[in-house]
Amino acid sequence: VSLKPIVQGMLEHVMERSDNNDDGALSDAIPALQEVDPRPFALAVTTIDGEQYCAGDSDVSFTIQSISKPFVYALALESIGSAEVLNHVDVEPSGDAFSELSLMPETGRPFNPMINAGAIAAHALVPGDTEERVDHILDLFSRLAGRRLTMNSQIYRSEREHADRNLGIAHMLRARGVIESDPESVVDGYIQQCSIEVTARDLSMMSATLANGGLHPVSGERILSPAVVRQTMSVMLSCGMYDIAGDWITRIGVPAKSGISGGVTGALPGQLGITAFSPRLGPNGSSVRGFRVFYELSQELSLHLLDAAPATDDIVIHSREGQDANGKPWRVLQVLGAITFPGAERILRELSDLSDEFTELSPENARLVVDLSSTLRINPIGRQLLAEAVRRIAEQASRVIILDPAGLLDRLDKAAFGRAELHRRRDTVPKHKAVTVHEPTLELRPEGHEE
Ligand code: GLU
Repeated sequence: VSLKPIVQGMLEHVMERSDNNDDGALSDAIPALQEVDPRPFALAVTTIDGEQYCAGDSDVSFTIQSISKPFVYALALESIGSAEVLNHVDVEPSGDAFSELSLMPETGRPFNPMINAGAIAAHALVPGDTEERVDHILDLFSRLAGRRLTMNSQIYRSEREHADRNLGIAHMLRARGVIESDPESVVDGYIQQCSIEVTARDLSMMSATLANGGLHPVSGERILSPAVVRQTMSVMLSCGMYDIAGDWITRIGVPAKSGISGGVTGALPGQLGITAFSPRLGPNGSSVRGFRVFYELSQELSLHLLDAAPATDDIVIHSREGQDANGKPWRVLQVLGAITFPGAERILRELSDLSDEFTELSPENARLVVDLSSTLRINPIGRQLLAEAVRRIAEQASRVIILDPAGLLDRLDKAAFGRAELHRRRDTVPKHKAVTVHEPTLELRPEGHEE
């Protein structure tokens, strides 16, 4: 039974609700955009492991326009580092329209890389001359999309002939020392960047790579580093939707970027890349149906970032009593899931209660196994708190064993665990279903250990 139609049907259903909305108009910012077909409507969703759900006209091409901005910003960050990029472009929401000739009064830098001033500056930060920059950008976009992309020369030429505003911005940037390169060629490269053709399917894959922390969902290739992705998505969240950024984040809650050709793409960390496409724009310069369909989808699938399950839901802690083959009592604390700060804090409380019980036992009977064999991951603060907790308990107990077959704690120095013993042997993992800790626990003992 193929169950894909269940999710596919949800997407189609969500689209149907916006299908008859013909509000808005084609962008008049670029003459050639007035010529495009206003009817295509698409919704594409890509999971972080590369499954795609595409509805409507998901394979119709359109120029990427401003949706190129977050990806070129990421390329600049990757190429010259975040400190140097921040010397040229700030990360503050402007509330302005995309093409505003504005700089932050305090810093003399563009507000953020999502409005044109910041995007043109970010383009100029990509190393190389105009041709090399465009090559880098086209290459990155193609790798993200998972196929070779090309440029729409007709829309490029049309925008190039009507580039006064962007040229004005570039000259302002050079006059203020934000860019060094020739304004004409920077704008030429920037317009080429905006003319790259994509489909909703492509863009949802590109965003899914962001959602996946920079690892391509299909090829598994590391295309962007996690720190760059975090910075890029932060700016999408605060500034990606121009002057409707506040409305977008409160109602839809997905870091996103729109473009004047009618695309909107969103990246939901650890979950999905989502793209909608419909060329008619509202007064704010974003796709009318795109906004609508994102809103419906966010509602329907509970996608709002702030609706995310609390991190404590990622962890299950089982505390059990058991005994080894010699009939000696052990306590077993098994941790399933992921240990981040909130989970680690709960483990500490659990271990406190448990070690209180120890004081009722004779110290030689106080034995503890902390079983991490079903723990998926642990972050640095989780590691640090857990090590400190077992170190303290080990001072009071007869034996404390941490079972860590995956080596989640490897990055910590052995000394951090004090008297607690770290074991990695998979074959000694206690049987979880059993309340009694059988033979395997006994085998945890290092050779020659005296009890
Ligand atoms: N190429 C367009 C410009 O720079 C992109 C604007 C947009 O998509 O918001 O004016």
